Amino acid sequence: MTWRVPLARPDLSGNEARYALEAIESSWIGPVGPFVDRFEADFARVCGTSQALGVSNGTVGLHLAMAALGVGPGDEVIVPSLTYIATANAVRYVGAEPVFVDVDPATWCIEPSAVAAAVTTRTVGIIAVHLYGHPADMDALLAIGDRHSLFVVEDAAEAHGARYRDRPVGSLATAAVFSFYGNKIVTSGEGGAVTTSDPELMAKLRLLRGQGMDLARQYYFPVIGYNYRLTNVACALLCAQLERLDEMLETRRRIDAVYREALRDVSGINLQPRAEWAQAVPWLVSVMVDESEYGIGRDELMDRLAANGIETRPFFIPIHTLPPYTSGASGSGLPVTTRMAREGVNLPTYSGLGPADLDYVVRCIAREARDGD
Ligand SMILES: *Cc1c(COP(=O)(O)O)cnc(C)c1O
Repeated sequence: MTWRVPLARPDLSGNEARYALEAIESSWIGPVGPFVDRFEADFARVCGTSQALGVSNGTVGLHLAMAALGVGPGDEVIVPSLTYIATANAVRYVGAEPVFVDVDPATWCIEPSAVAAAVTTRTVGIIAVHLYGHPADMDALLAIGDRHSLFVVEDAAEAHGARYRDRPVGSLATAAVFSFYGNKIVTSGEGGAVTTSDPELMAKLRLLRGQGMDLARQYYFPVIGYNYRLTNVACALLCAQLERLDEMLETRRRIDAVYREALRDVSGINLQPRAEWAQAVPWLVSVMVDESEYGIGRDELMDRLAANGIETRPFFIPIHTLPPYTSGASGSGLPVTTRMAREGVNLPTYSGLGPADLDYVVRCIAREARDGD
């Protein structure tokens, strides 16, 4: 199906094509080359860390982080249930157990008091997800981490450029992981990065990313590693994307502001909240549909928008209810997560969403527009 208004579309209007061609013409198309070095330096600067490591995608970035932090069988890692599956899968990849907790209705991110209550003698760390571009309450999570000697990893896959109390996401914890999947704020189609300012941790991440080969001795493998590298062609795209990050974020903020202004007074449509300490970035503008006030439920709204050519997406299904995770999950109730998963919907958000289409989308949600308007 081709949508009149798709959910997301990459913005490749800068130097993306030029740099990709440059990479191809230079014959540096593998995981080594000038764009890899430049991207890793540029991205560390964006995140305010000493280093950034390009990886094949966000999922393997999370896996690498777990492996480099020494997480293994018998360990527990506390994660929100309301997130993309990769957050939990990364914990399982290393043989550990994710323990699912609820999210805070004021941030839609992992609830610090629920984290504190979930800590056991097996707990080794916390993964905080900056859901839909809103940072998690990191100071509260770091305090819990300090108290129990836990690592805190940011899953910043949906929050490039967001800030927490004026500090950039990516620099807030032990390490952070980003995704550059096709619908993310910064993209190379597939891609990811891990950031940290801990040189020892970065050395482990780098070793594990490159098959575990000793960087000083060819074909000597002190450990079992992975091939999780990112290519120079992908990094060419990412270098071009980062040149325009501020501009792309500004465009997304303008779109978000239009949605907020137009939907504020639509009863039953509840916008993503913002904590006063958060400088969120609109990844996908997200709302919750209160059926009793709006008249119809989330799924029916999505069907109606689809009938008008508008693509939307439901919120994630709580991971603790999915088949691989129903046993062993501590979070049986998770009332906020459960309600959000039922009521939440992501709306079209991308740089190329022009004023006319945006106006059409908000009028359809406000039920002021019909087919063919
Ligand atoms: C997209 C995403 C990931 C995984 O990223 P990929 O690059 O698709 O592997 C991980 N966590 C969250 C919260 C995401 O949204």
